[in-house]
Amino acid sequence: MGAPVGADVDAAQRVRDEFTELYGTAPEGVWSAPGRVNLIGEHTDYNDGFVMPFALPHVTTAAVSRRTDGVLRLHSADIEGGVVELAPDALEPGTDHAWTAYPAGVVWALREAGHPVGGADVHLSSTVPTGAGLSSSAALEVVIALALNDLHGLGLARWQLARLCQRAENVYVGAPTGIMDQTASACCEHGHALFLDTRDLSQKQIPFDLAAEGMRLLVVDTQVKHAHSGGEYGKRRAGCEKGAALLGVDALRDVAYDGLGAALDRLGDEEEVRRLVRHVVTEDHRVERVVALLEAGDTRAIGPVLTEGHASLRDDFRISCPELDLVVDTALASGALGARMTGGGFGGSAIVLAEASDVDTITKAVEEAFAAAGFTAPRTFEAVPSAGARRAV
Ligand code: ADP
Ligand code: MG
Repeated sequence: MGAPVGADVDAAQRVRDEFTELYGTAPEGVWSAPGRVNLIGEHTDYNDGFVMPFALPHVTTAAVSRRTDGVLRLHSADIEGGVVELAPDALEPGTDHAWTAYPAGVVWALREAGHPVGGADVHLSSTVPTGAGLSSSAALEVVIALALNDLHGLGLARWQLARLCQRAENVYVGAPTGIMDQTASACCEHGHALFLDTRDLSQKQIPFDLAAEGMRLLVVDTQVKHAHSGGEYGKRRAGCEKGAALLGVDALRDVAYDGLGAALDRLGDEEEVRRLVRHVVTEDHRVERVVALLEAGDTRAIGPVLTEGHASLRDDFRISCPELDLVVDTALASGALGARMTGGGFGGSAIVLAEASDVDTITKAVEEAFAAAGFTAPRTFEAVPSAGARRAV
């Protein structure tokens, strides 16, 4: 299946026209950056571990022009309210609690790193669902970073832009997320999943074309909104750091899978920390197993590994919720090859790996199960591995 080139150009043209209408002149350019879905490797990225996301066809598209008067004007077609005006030299981390903190945070992070980024006019529009675990926040950050990198000729590499975007989200917005989302949005390639070592950001593009093998990957958005900067994510992160400290390693990445039993013994009666450590160490191992299976051409065999990952997130990391569990259980009972929650947890989306011929049965079964449980109807779509951030016009 090809990239949705036509749709991309249409969206870019529309955002360009809206910018012109809003600000009175045409933008200098239009860029887009995708949301992502994580195939495997959950809550490993802040433990220096492995992740394996791929980019969605859903993108945030931004039209941008530089300004010489030091004013930053931000507008989103997806948010009620008009243009927000900020002063780049007065940006303060932790002071903005609105959506503008994400793009302003990128400007702040670039300036703080010494890059001469001043004012700009920005208008954007997105097809990435927000708060669904599909990383609309990273898409928003990365599209702004790429636009400013190009317009100011900063020459920063994709991984450097991802780092700056992570800093924007961690420090400026105040959400303690790892590096996966921003790297996925900046670095993914069409038809591939990205095997990323979050310790040194070394990457390998792994061909991932399910359609060619008669399979599909479904994303089921439960419509349960998570709140990332809320306490639970931070608590898990702190628990992982405590585990690393108790085990005398820099990060849980350094606990060998073969030595997991001994490591858990050493944690004694630290029951919660033991569970967190067990998830992270087995999850890193699952990423390596998925990579090996895909490289060996044994794609269907990744299904049970994904399902194991869900059990680990549900029972050890304890970040699933009834809606996510219902998607996974129903999909598996209806013939799915594997299923798991994806993203930060406490809501958001699940992924389902299935034979193409089973997609309709599974989708219907999940819808019926949600209706029977009295849950809001889920939104299901097929995820096709798509391109990372790019200049559109
Ligand atoms: P996720 O990244 O999983 O979608 P987050 O809570 O990390 O969820 O980020 C969602 C937030 O990002 C939104 O609440 C909003 O502040 C901001 N955001 C994302 N996309 C847009 C957009 N198109 N326009 C304005 N704000 C957006
Ligand atoms: Mg996010």
